[in-house]
Amino acid sequence: MKKKLSLFLALVLTVGLCLGLGVGAAAADVTTVTAPAGSYVRALVDLPSGETLRDFEVLDGEVAPGATLRAEGEGLALVGTPAQEGTWVVHLSVTTDSGKSELFLEQVIVAADSTPVPTSTPEPEVTDSPAPTAEPTPEPTLAPAPEGRPTITKDPYGETLSENGTAIFVARADDADSIEWYLADNAGGTPVEITQAAQAISGLQVYGQGTQTLTVSGIPGSLNGWQVECRFTGSTGAVAVTNRATITIRSGAMPAPVITLQPEGGDVYAGETITLATRAAIPAEGTLEYQWYSTDTNDMATVRAIDGAKDSTYTPPTEEGTMYYCVGLRNVRGAEESTTAYSRLVEVNCFSTVREHFHDFTGPWHWDELHHWKECTCSARQEEAIHDLQWTVTKKATSKADGERVGVCSVCGFETTEIIPAGANSNSNLIRTLLIVLLVLVAVLLLGGAAFMVMRARGGNSPRPPRSGGYSGTYNAAADEQNRKKSDPDQ
Ligand SMILES: [Zn+2]
Ligand SMILES: [Zn+2]
Repeated sequence: MKKKLSLFLALVLTVGLCLGLGVGAAAADVTTVTAPAGSYVRALVDLPSGETLRDFEVLDGEVAPGATLRAEGEGLALVGTPAQEGTWVVHLSVTTDSGKSELFLEQVIVAADSTPVPTSTPEPEVTDSPAPTAEPTPEPTLAPAPEGRPTITKDPYGETLSENGTAIFVARADDADSIEWYLADNAGGTPVEITQAAQAISGLQVYGQGTQTLTVSGIPGSLNGWQVECRFTGSTGAVAVTNRATITIRSGAMPAPVITLQPEGGDVYAGETITLATRAAIPAEGTLEYQWYSTDTNDMATVRAIDGAKDSTYTPPTEEGTMYYCVGLRNVRGAEESTTAYSRLVEVNCFSTVREHFHDFTGPWHWDELHHWKECTCSARQEEAIHDLQWTVTKKATSKADGERVGVCSVCGFETTEIIPAGANSNSNLIRTLLIVLLVLVAVLLLGGAAFMVMRARGGNSPRPPRSGGYSGTYNAAADEQNRKKSDPDQ
């Protein structure tokens, strides 16, 4: 009686919240798990926007008898063997990396024989189960699953977001060879493979097709009520399809930012850094807020917020190894905020070694007027040499008109054209000219020399001015000696 009362209260509370806050806002936080009584259940509960669970607390309500709640992976799991038919609602406070939120978990426990598909057959990890021995064995034989059909262990959950926001869907199955996500419209159309569907929807971006985590960004308001399903194909080609998860677009809410520049990953060697950058269209109202996330696995569902990384760019640490990064953007105005738009997840590989550079001189020849050489992208040069020009006269010079010759480098193909001056069209002409010049010079010198000699000869016979001392022109050595002896008696 007491249980029924609390269930009633919880339901009244849920309905009251739905009516009071608007269906969209509250509906997002109600997750329903349907399970058969008396069989082992392990259902994962998706957290808003695929965030990572840190802690949870039961505010009120109850979990179905026989089942318990526990943290599992990045989320919350309902585990156990519910024994009693009925509906239970538990109201939870959930703490994730980006703060606290509330969640209602409804558990619809149906009669054991009315289950069309077993939600979960006993898994290898039975050691986790609190009461594996209580499991009735005939149960799995009732489900005539086609041979090789994967067993779905987690269905994707619906997402509520504002326009242009991002939704992350997670689905899991055992024994699946391939995974494909499909998008179904809200008019009962046949589901279409989601990357194909995205090509026809402006702004819609899809990441993670072929993996367990599907991230859909830039979701327009027109996709309100559309659904996502995941198809797992086994080794025999048998397909298992998950439940459909509904996309709900909050009307009247602030639109989420539209990412216009996605970050780019890359390789980082010792001494280098990489800067991840994003850009979004400037919102009409409010301001953009950034938060960068990292993870060591290529899975959006495992990202964690990086402390203090709240700019449009982020420079990751360069410790050796591979990390994945993404950024979440939201639009904030006062207390109001949009849902978050996430960028794609990019890979950054850090190496402790320096980037090795191997010169590559296999490219074409480089040249200037004088030289040719081979050049690497780093500007290093090799085989640098003067052109080996092979000349061809294309126009002979005459005595009056200039000629022309073309030189082509036998190595690099460099071409140059030269003028051959008039009257100098051959080397023998040049030598002849030089000889003539030389002869003329010799003749000029000889003539000049002769003229000089003549002049000098004439200058010797010309009369000289008389000398003081009365000598009459010829020198008399004996008389000079006599004169010296007279003037010096000591000798
Ligand atoms: Zn180089
Ligand atoms: Zn050359």
